[in-house]
Amino acid sequence: MSNEPGDLSRRRFLELTAATAAVAAAGGLLPRSARAAALPHLTPANPQAKALGFVENTAQVDQAKYPSHKTSQDCSNCTFFQGAAGAPWGPCAIFRGFAVPAKGWCSAHATRK
Ligand code: SF4
Repeated sequence: MSNEPGDLSRRRFLELTAATAAVAAAGGLLPRSARAAALPHLTPANPQAKALGFVENTAQVDQAKYPSHKTSQDCSNCTFFQGAAGAPWGPCAIFRGFAVPAKGWCSAHATRK
């Protein structure tokens, strides 16, 4: 292999391309919906989810335990939901590293203004 200027710039280009692909694969450059698809789904069995009364469907909320819950509240209209409009699942700022269902609910729900 020679060390001609063209070889160095080609090598540098290949290094940058590989670095960019690594960042994209880690999710940094992927659209929000693609990142949500790559996240594991939160389940009610998760200890943090349990602590916040998370359910996969807002209709399943125990009203006796959460009397201020309204069936109109779900993840899709929560300020912490980071999924795209209409997406069935999306990231949540409270449960980092997981996707939550648009129809889900937890006691941290705060209606998006
Ligand atoms: S904080 Fe909001 S978006 Fe996250 S799980 Fe609870 S209700 Fe859903």
